[in-house]
Amino acid sequence: MAKCAKCGLEVVSREDLYEDRGLQICEDCKMKGTSSPSQPCGVK
Ligand SMILES: [Zn+2]
Repeated sequence: MAKCAKCGLEVVSREDLYEDRGLQICEDCKMKGTSSPSQPCGVK
């Protein structure tokens, strides 16, 4: 069982974790951790 280094969320597979500056973090934290929090309207 792998665990997110930021929020502590347990993920089934290590493949669900992403590396961010040496830390294994979940997808949620990865999304929040990006420097672009909001997308411009109309972009998909
Ligand atoms: Zn997390």
